Amino acid sequence: MMKKLPVLLNPYIKTRHPYNKLKICRRCNYFTVLGDTECPACGKSALQGVEQRASATLTKSAWMTRLIVVLIASVGIVLSPSTLHTILISAGGMVLLALLWTMQRRLTPALLRRELEKLFLKEAYSLAAGLANDRETAIKVFHEGDKPLAFEMLREIGALVHTDQLRVEQILLLQSFILRKDMDLMLDPLLMDHFNPDLVEYIGELAKIRRDLIKENAFRYMLLHEAHILKMEHGESILIGVAGAAVRMKRYLLLYPYLIMRYAGRLPKDRFLRLYRMVQASPGAFTVPLYEEVMNVYNEKYKWDEDFQATGKPRG
Ligand SMILES: [Zn+2]
Repeated sequence: MMKKLPVLLNPYIKTRHPYNKLKICRRCNYFTVLGDTECPACGKSALQGVEQRASATLTKSAWMTRLIVVLIASVGIVLSPSTLHTILISAGGMVLLALLWTMQRRLTPALLRRELEKLFLKEAYSLAAGLANDRETAIKVFHEGDKPLAFEMLREIGALVHTDQLRVEQILLLQSFILRKDMDLMLDPLLMDHFNPDLVEYIGELAKIRRDLIKENAFRYMLLHEAHILKMEHGESILIGVAGAAVRMKRYLLLYPYLIMRYAGRLPKDRFLRLYRMVQASPGAFTVPLYEEVMNVYNEKYKWDEDFQATGKPRG
């Protein structure tokens, strides 16, 4: 087995939209999620956020529209046959300008989104090429030996590029680290459709240190590939760990009763105690087979156990 490395990972800074960290070069239109100010392609300090770029384009076109209104009004004023006409055209022009200004301000968020879509569509090729280059940079960093940095880079790219290749690369790197509870770990973005033993082992690790990260998608994944997982070397203990994570919430007991039933007898005592107490607290809420299985295990293994007699609130 590969020796695992103790590492320090920087926390992942979440943004509202995945493209919030995407930058574009003002000089050469190169896209990157890794650069800060200096463009990796042309070397100039010309990187700007894509939103900044969209907003600059929008401001320019808004001023153009206002200028056109002013021009039309000016021509009208010059050609007006009387003072009354001049006053009317000036007033009309000013009202129109004010209306336009208000509209543009109100519509800014929607217009900004449209401008971004236009930018991504127009520069689709250079966007894909830029992100592919980012990945190559990360792989180069990996080969140079800085695995934590390579992982952090792939994680940034992974927020925008959803391919299994990137997920597998991140999982393999994570599996080469000693994972700790205080690390900024994630699971949902790394889930794939097909069976992947490294992903399963990573989920097994999380079941030990970060049960809270195992949610609906992960339970579904484990159930879907259960037969494959059972053929893995530690497959069964991983499934027991995941069933132990499902005992965290009543909701999971209702959603995945068969996962819990199949492994209830092999759960560690603290997890089974929690399951037992949840089932005891509202026996009618769960399926009959789950209730019966929990009671069978209780009668077989824990009937005389003092901890099971004491009443207490189960802990997560
Ligand atoms: Zn550039």
